[in-house]
Amino acid sequence: MRKFLYTWRFYSFGREQYQECMNNIFNNNLLNLRQGNLVVAAFIACFSFYPLLIENSILKTGIYLGVALIALMLSFYSNYLLQQINIRKRQVYGFIVLFYLNLMLFGTYISVWANPDRAATIYAVFIISSLLLFVISPQFNLVLILGAMVIFMTSSVIIKESSVWILDVVNILVAGALSIYFCWQITKLRMGLEISAIKLEEERNKYVDQSITDELTQLRNRRDFMQTFQRYISNYRTSDDWLCVALADIDFFKLYNDHYGHPRGDECLRSIGEALNSLSSLGVYAARVGGEEFALLWFEKDVTHIDKIINHWTEAIRNLKIVHEKSKVSEYVTMSIGVYVVRCGSSHDTQALYDLADRALYTAKGSGRNCTIVGGEEIKEYKISPKE
Ligand code: GH3
Ligand code: MG
Ligand code: MG
Repeated sequence: MRKFLYTWRFYSFGREQYQECMNNIFNNNLLNLRQGNLVVAAFIACFSFYPLLIENSILKTGIYLGVALIALMLSFYSNYLLQQINIRKRQVYGFIVLFYLNLMLFGTYISVWANPDRAATIYAVFIISSLLLFVISPQFNLVLILGAMVIFMTSSVIIKESSVWILDVVNILVAGALSIYFCWQITKLRMGLEISAIKLEEERNKYVDQSITDELTQLRNRRDFMQTFQRYISNYRTSDDWLCVALADIDFFKLYNDHYGHPRGDECLRSIGEALNSLSSLGVYAARVGGEEFALLWFEKDVTHIDKIINHWTEAIRNLKIVHEKSKVSEYVTMSIGVYVVRCGSSHDTQALYDLADRALYTAKGSGRNCTIVGGEEIKEYKISPKE
């Protein structure tokens, strides 16, 4: 029994996937509801003329038209509510119940209460199949369909002659059974489709992520850096901010590798990657663009604040305290940094900016390493030495 319930509740998909599918389907239901609402209101409005045609009663038509108008207004109002972005799931399902109740009572009115001497095959099918519009959980579906069947059958048995209500009962039983079956199948199909879509999306994201991530340091790789760089330049053309492009290279890393071995070298790169990644909380984008070379990008409102980021950065590296006995500038691993700063508004070429930052890095290497050289089109080149 338990097993049956699990399959029946689609838990064979896995609870989380079930939830995720339902969330996606929920958004589609919103769309269906908005359209369904209008369809119901239009139906009610059309059938308001029914008494005029059949009974020639202007009073009744007036009353019906009034009701139709109210229904139409309610429908517009609920559509307005449904467009609210933060609408809750419970509200949407509340609307589905209202929508269904509306349709069912209307159908029951036309086919049973207003026409006691005729069997209502079309209405039975129509009412019961209208739930196919939505993909809802099978339990919810079952409750709605059974509810509709009970109301329809009870009123038919009470109001109609036995020769007529028997037909109605048969019709509604067949329609109900078919509806339960099709609703279940459609829900299952939709869930299957959603799961495939979710899986595909996950796979795609995984491959995209892999193609832009550096495996060793988990920073972004050179490819992503060039794309991001280009995007920063194009997207921020109208901004007044300054774009800072920094290139950094570990000092005497070849000696480090030679002395401690390649695996320790890799370990060192990984630690530096983590330290650079931590700068993302300051809005700094970091990538590994070569063996032991890194590139960073960030925006600055005020050029005089550039040193702040640089100090955070060098401090993060210093705090790693990776011993480097063979270094000629410090007892720990250090980096040389070249920064080039430009105004976002002026036109730039990524390669040219990259080369200018590279030149600043070269200057930093030439002026003793373990330091930063900051340059820019409106800035006099200056050097930031490490704090003691
Ligand atoms: P400088 O201060 O002038 O930069 O000296 P350097 O020794 O760091 O200069 P160079 O650029 O010649 O050395 C780069 C070294 O980085 C060479 C190579 O052994 C090492 N390297 C590059 N990629 C990797 C890597 O993925 N893992 C490890 N362990 N070492 C790497
Ligand atoms: Mg190098
Ligand atoms: Mg180096």
